[in-house]
Amino acid sequence: MHTDLHPQYQNNPDAQRAKQLLSACVHCGFCLETCPTYLETRDERDSPRGRIYLIRQLLETGSASATTTHHLDRCLTCRSCETTCPSGVQYAQLADIGQHLAEKAAPRPRLQGAVRQVLRAVISRPTLFRYLLRTGQALRPLLPGPLRRQVPPKQPRLPLPAAGGQRTLLVLEGCVQAAATPATNDAARRVCAALGITLQAAPRAGCCGAVRQHLGGAEAARDDMRRNIDAWWPAIEAGAEAIVSTASGCGAMLVDYGRLLADDPRYAQRAARVSSLARDLGEVLLEEDLSVLAPETGCGKIAVHTPCSLQHALRQPDLLPSLLRRAGFSLARTEESHICCGSAGTYSLLQPALSERLRQRKRAALTVDNPALIATANIGCQLHLADPAVPVLHWIELLDPARSPGSQ
Ligand code: SF4
Ligand code: SF4
Repeated sequence: MHTDLHPQYQNNPDAQRAKQLLSACVHCGFCLETCPTYLETRDERDSPRGRIYLIRQLLETGSASATTTHHLDRCLTCRSCETTCPSGVQYAQLADIGQHLAEKAAPRPRLQGAVRQVLRAVISRPTLFRYLLRTGQALRPLLPGPLRRQVPPKQPRLPLPAAGGQRTLLVLEGCVQAAATPATNDAARRVCAALGITLQAAPRAGCCGAVRQHLGGAEAARDDMRRNIDAWWPAIEAGAEAIVSTASGCGAMLVDYGRLLADDPRYAQRAARVSSLARDLGEVLLEEDLSVLAPETGCGKIAVHTPCSLQHALRQPDLLPSLLRRAGFSLARTEESHICCGSAGTYSLLQPALSERLRQRKRAALTVDNPALIATANIGCQLHLADPAVPVLHWIELLDPARSPGSQ
């Protein structure tokens, strides 16, 4: 697809990069039927190809309307279109640039901009987020249904193992997950300890940067990345084998550090090194002998929900099913495994109606075979899909040696 850049973008590196990315698209439309928003609305402007046309129009005219922003905002950045596209269009990069340029060309209404600013500030600050979460948990019984679902009940904590395995891996504990579902990181420590691995968190590391990156705060996200690189660097220089994350959304961000800081002369090399060391915890465990864990597998069939960040961004669509089968679990049949659940970071807060439609569609697709539980790999999906009818947990909890028989 050819694009003639508007004079105002001639010397803009983002616009030049977008032009290059657009050139790969051959308008074939194969991506339409794998795009969750297009499947729900059947409006071409809610499809990858339609959004590509909107971005090209912006680049050629130098202007955007509220309609442009509306349809670009409705993209989940799930990257299902990238997996499908036969021409290798890197849609997520294009969407980031498109949203950023559209926001500059057509500033958001004040209230909308303020909501995004608040989300950027709150979610990526663990102490503040933890405080608000505790308040929400105390008021949980009084909250209306949809809002109550966004506030997970407080999880019980079980004893942690002492450090001292033969191997030590750096771990990114995440901002939302560490506060909302601490059972995930606790279970990861116990499972790894049983396999002779110590997970070591760097105290000064924090949010991976994804929250701010996807809410139009690219420079603030780069600050998050630089802070994490500084926090991890002593351990990396000392020979750290890997940086693992238990939230696949954070893992997808880590592998992008090298690209996102490539133009920063002080951090480019270190960022590339971090990206090369980033691994999902599941990838590490797949290489281990899981039989020593002897997990309780008699809990019934497990429906696996592989988050978009794991299947489309990290290109690991079979990781969770392989891991759970190897551990001895029976898996339930599911449908539409490539379609996003509608969580997508802050999407469920910013696009509640479409997000809820996708949630219901996903729950139906995950429960066709009457599973006992749903296992996933990302905190956002876990909270978004939560429903006591078929509980949702992080897959690592299924392998946890502290998990009692019959627990959910
Ligand atoms: S599948 Fe790829 S090349 Fe075809 S329209 Fe979609 S983005 Fe363009
Ligand atoms: S990233 Fe997901 S929602 Fe956005 S255009 Fe691609 S398939 Fe559609």
